[in-house]
Amino acid sequence: MIDDRDRDLDDGDLGLDERAPPGGARTVPVRPGLPRSRYDWSRAELGQLLADEPGYRVDQVWEGLHHHGTEPEAWSNLPMALRARLAAELTPALEPAAESVSDDGQTVKWLWTLADGRQIESVLMRYPDRATVCVSSQAGCAMACSFCATGQAGFDRHLSVGEMVEQVVRARTRAAADGQRLSNVVFMGMGEPFANFDRTWTAVERMHGDLGLSARHLTLSTVGVVPGIRRLAEAAIPVNLAVSLHLANDAERDALVPINRRYPLAVLAEACHDYVEATHRRLSFEWALIDGTNDTDRHATELADYARPLRAHVNLIALNPTAGYAVRGTPPAGVRAFADRLATLGVNATVRRTRGTDIDAACGQLRASRTPPTDIALPGPSLMP
Ligand code: SAH
Repeated sequence: MIDDRDRDLDDGDLGLDERAPPGGARTVPVRPGLPRSRYDWSRAELGQLLADEPGYRVDQVWEGLHHHGTEPEAWSNLPMALRARLAAELTPALEPAAESVSDDGQTVKWLWTLADGRQIESVLMRYPDRATVCVSSQAGCAMACSFCATGQAGFDRHLSVGEMVEQVVRARTRAAADGQRLSNVVFMGMGEPFANFDRTWTAVERMHGDLGLSARHLTLSTVGVVPGIRRLAEAAIPVNLAVSLHLANDAERDALVPINRRYPLAVLAEACHDYVEATHRRLSFEWALIDGTNDTDRHATELADYARPLRAHVNLIALNPTAGYAVRGTPPAGVRAFADRLATLGVNATVRRTRGTDIDAACGQLRASRTPPTDIALPGPSLMP
């Protein structure tokens, strides 16, 4: 058995019906008893809300939400009374609990409080040629990867569609204030998107169809939840897939990334292969370099043997230390050497800078630094590219 926490996974998404852990899987409602938030409303639901208004109002509201991303009070093409009513009905999902900006101003990290008091994070990363937001798909995570601050703190609940979409809208507004267009979304914040597949996918459809982000600028990142990869291969929008690999032999990966016991490397490779065949998208592997744990020549050879047939690109990042995991990240010289070794073995690799380390811009880190320690050790890493 992997961990008690994985009983909290969405059983349908994980195929737990076939492999239910002792005690059986149970599905967790997203927001028991809570009202739907601003971006949770579908067009059809808005149609019902506006049933006593002319038909074109739904389009106007939809445009106000998605194209403009402004508050209902600002929708000047609507009558005042209706704006006030919509402001009361279309409540935001995210309440800012903390915002930090890195010393160079290029990375903004938010800690959001949700309507039920749960907290999640998003990070906006600005580059000369693009702006990327890293969004959360769950409050917490049940995957229990030992080196990850979010995994160490456990699972709270799935995020709703609206909670995911609003993270992107908020980041887009922030980027626009500085004259930059938000171009990319990566699902590399808190949570495992494929354990919350249906809501995540509806959010992706919104980002693509309504926020106007192109499919090749949307990336879903998974720890290796094979049923999710299979569903993605059949999906209509060809988004990018990133797999957080970190080890390419089962014995060691079983220990570091517990889901590997359910979906071992051979099964994962087959799903990745089929995904690439079906979509012709580039596959990437995330590899957090951990001192002495996955950064030796042997590990590079194993990774190269695994990645080459899939033509996968490898993203390397030095592990960010977390309180619950004693081993440190690989020092810079070791990161360089590992990348060079991969190159000689015929694998393309990019070394990612950790962004916003000075502001706790990392998976679980900001939340951890604000949350009184419980029985589980918290503070976290710095995350992503
Ligand atoms: N559950 C998904 C997405 C969220 S994690 C997944 O596993 O892909 C986003 C990325 O951050 C993953 O590649 C994860 O392995 C990495 N990560 C988590 N903790 C980290 C740490 N302490 N240092 C560096 N990367 C970390």
